[in-house]
Amino acid sequence: MKTILITGAAGFIGSSLVREALQRGYRVVAVDKLTYAGNLTSLKEVADHPHFEFERADICDGEKIRSLLKQYEPGGILHLAAESHVDRSIDGPEAFIVTNIQGTFSMLEAVRSYLESCEISARSDFRFVHVSTDEVYGDLPDKEAFFTEETAYNPSSPYAATKASSDHLVRAWFRSFNTPVLITNCSNNYGARQFPEKLIPHIILSALAGKPLSVYGDGNQIRDWLYVDDHATALMTVLEKGSIGETYNIGGQNEKKNIEVVRSICSLLEELAPEQKKGELSRYEDLITFVKDRPGHDVRYAIDASKIKRELGWVPLETFETGLEKTVSWYLNHHQWWEDVLSGEYRLNRKGLGE
Ligand code: NAD
Repeated sequence: MKTILITGAAGFIGSSLVREALQRGYRVVAVDKLTYAGNLTSLKEVADHPHFEFERADICDGEKIRSLLKQYEPGGILHLAAESHVDRSIDGPEAFIVTNIQGTFSMLEAVRSYLESCEISARSDFRFVHVSTDEVYGDLPDKEAFFTEETAYNPSSPYAATKASSDHLVRAWFRSFNTPVLITNCSNNYGARQFPEKLIPHIILSALAGKPLSVYGDGNQIRDWLYVDDHATALMTVLEKGSIGETYNIGGQNEKKNIEVVRSICSLLEELAPEQKKGELSRYEDLITFVKDRPGHDVRYAIDASKIKRELGWVPLETFETGLEKTVSWYLNHHQWWEDVLSGEYRLNRKGLGE
């Protein structure tokens, strides 16, 4: 059985990836610092799986990462740990510099020294998949254009700039040290267990609470959306079939304006939870409020994911409509998960893990 190590495993995408990897028969070492974004409840259903291990560790702690690699001898790493929220990166960029840049540097150095100690056969099978974002490409002023793997980087937010920096480091380690890396750049993810600060869960939970649904600017910013479990299958496909040194764009071909996304959530809630409207509210849509735009807000992202489809045979299973319905239903049926996040209760089950 192959062992893989997943960083950021208690996060939104990481926890979906852990489930996908276990289903595919891997032994999974889940590594996470458990920042505010890490939630052990998201890993609850796999916690007792015989092939699952959890390690609380900071990716910036090179010594700790080296000792975990020595202990578990993984045949691959999927590196997701990051500070991931654009608004937070504008309010306080430092944590993004530390985790996204310094943390990726420390992962690459730990991998380099680990591989030096491995047998040649283990070394030639090893893969380091660095999970990045389409935000590194910046804005797409041309309405017809798409980001390809060749698009020049042009990040706008501190988050995007730190992810771009980490991608450059990963490429440099491939060129300079032959570290067996692969890079993925994915569009916006949505789905179950996403931290409520991100657009889709934020809108669902605000609507259920009868709070204003704040939309930046005119709401005409366009993003491509991918259901999180489809991202997990794409990442496993890249690990298993991708070519070392290559970059793969991942996307769902679901370009939507932010305001369309908000309206779709409102109509799903109208259908699935009409009785949960607060007070005198007649339609969830009436809660929509436009607020001052975010600084440096890119207007359009659109991703060309034809390479991963053509070369590796990956296709997403969900359309935006099916994925969004699953997502809204999940939040309606898992009140305890998000109530614990909103109240801070979710941090209490970290006792015994260094808190
Ligand atoms: P998330 O914020 O939900 O999870 C990040 C996880 O990383 C958390 O569990 C957190 O505790 C952990 N972490 C943070 N700092 C750490 C550190 N120093 N050491 C160890 N663990 C640490 O993020 P997500 O949405 O699941 O994103 C995961 C990755 O995918 C990120 O690298 C992000 O840039 C990338 N990505 C996200 C999206 C998206 O739409 N969410 C799209 C494309 C790419």
